[in-house]
Amino acid sequence: MNRTSYTGVAMNCLFCRILQGEIPSQPVYSDDLCYGFADIQPQAPTHLLLIPRRHIRSLAETSAEDASLLGHLMTKAAEIARQQNLSGGYRVVVNTGENGGQTVEHLHLHLLGGRAMHWPPG
Ligand code: 5GP
Ligand code: ZN
Repeated sequence: MNRTSYTGVAMNCLFCRILQGEIPSQPVYSDDLCYGFADIQPQAPTHLLLIPRRHIRSLAETSAEDASLLGHLMTKAAEIARQQNLSGGYRVVVNTGENGGQTVEHLHLHLLGGRAMHWPPG
């Protein structure tokens, strides 16, 4: 059962627990709508995660009502990339669902940089 409280927090969600401070994380950005922190298993010299404070299971669960939040996440990813000096370029990834490789069911943007990325991804 996915218990979601009135604040939009899912009690059994890893990233909601990180947002609540129950699980420690290394912060890089925070505002009313989202939180950015270092990935625990970095796949590039810079590997950050940016998540909405509201529990949304995946990009597949979003709709037009979420457009401003999604826009906020994208523009903040670009702002964080500038702060992280990723002027040579970077990659923003949103793994979605099982085939998309999503392992944590709380919407998140990966911000990867500091090395050249390959295409196509695996
Ligand atoms: P996904 O595979 O769902 O797109 O990405 C989940 C990401 O969360 C992975 O890159 C994984 O390394 C990261 N992750 C999993 N558990 C933790 C944790 O406890 N703390 C942090 N900071 N990152 C985590
Ligand atoms: Zn959550």
